[in-house]
Amino acid sequence: MKILITGGAGFIASHVADLMIDNGHDVVIVDDLSNGKKENINPRAAFYHASILDRTLADIFREEKPEVVIHHAAQISVRDSVKDPLRDMEINIKGSVQLLEHCKDHQVKKIIFSSTGGALYGEQDYFPADENHPMRPLSPYAIAKLSVEKYLFFYFTTHHLPYTALRYANVYGPRQDPCGEAGVVAIFCQRMLKGDQPVINGDGNQTRDFVYVGDVARANLLALQHEVTGEINIGTGVETSINTIFNEIRSFVAPGTPEVHGPAMPGEQLRSVLSYQKARTVLGWEPTMPLTEGLKRTVDFFRHMQ
Ligand code: NAD
Repeated sequence: MKILITGGAGFIASHVADLMIDNGHDVVIVDDLSNGKKENINPRAAFYHASILDRTLADIFREEKPEVVIHHAAQISVRDSVKDPLRDMEINIKGSVQLLEHCKDHQVKKIIFSSTGGALYGEQDYFPADENHPMRPLSPYAIAKLSVEKYLFFYFTTHHLPYTALRYANVYGPRQDPCGEAGVVAIFCQRMLKGDQPVINGDGNQTRDFVYVGDVARANLLALQHEVTGEINIGTGVETSINTIFNEIRSFVAPGTPEVHGPAMPGEQLRSVLSYQKARTVLGWEPTMPLTEGLKRTVDFFRHMQ
């Protein structure tokens, strides 16, 4: 199948592209390299150095005629979205809607969208959060993800474009970026490997749901193979504190590193964890990577980058 992947030079979508290619699909990557890296691009993929906001996207659709679109291109920093909501809106909402217009015009069979769980549900009423949990998007980044989910529903009901919105938990693994939603893993790895002191924000008891990038890529492959339209959480159902992440990474990299705490980040979410029951039922997906092994692989990646 011909698959167009936006953001395919980035962390998550480069793993998605690799897996799709390994499974015999024909992959076209569109990335403006604003945050992605050329070395992440699978050499067997066709690559267009372009923004999803560019007019040339129309030519790319005409030339490549993708059957499926997997959309990961985005401004990914929650903090930057707070500082500059207009820029976030331009890329994350307007860019996505332009992409949907092309999908409609070229009768794309399906679109898979990288949404977010943690940032959409906000401070949770119950744990783990399922897809019916109330939405409390507290940043322009999260508001944009929710908006795109609504546009997807509109394009499905009005233009018959099937979609799957995968609401990721905090994705970590090789090639990850310190600005992303699970950025703390990359930050701790990079600082400890350099011999610098990492600082834990607040008491470190805040929790997140850390899901390995290989498991996330597999969720995209299953979403491609299953005819299911709607939103699906992709997380582990396990809450892990920032202190635990610190201790695990420290044990592989620099066991003598002292545990140093700084002030808590104002407004930082306290607990976040996603239920994957729907993913199990409708996609047959389950997380398979144990946290310790996933963190080891991430540390090894950053060690080789040194
Ligand atoms: P990333 O920055 O590594 O990947 C995003 C890619 O999009 C980059 O290669 C960047 O160059 C590209 N890009 C940005 N703006 C573009 C534009 N206008 N046109 C074309 N390409 C553009 O980030 P990531 O962590 O791999 O995130 C991928 C997607 O998954 C994003 O949509 C993000 O919001 C979503 N997501 C990530 C997490 C996480 O924990 N990392 C959690 C939930 C959702």
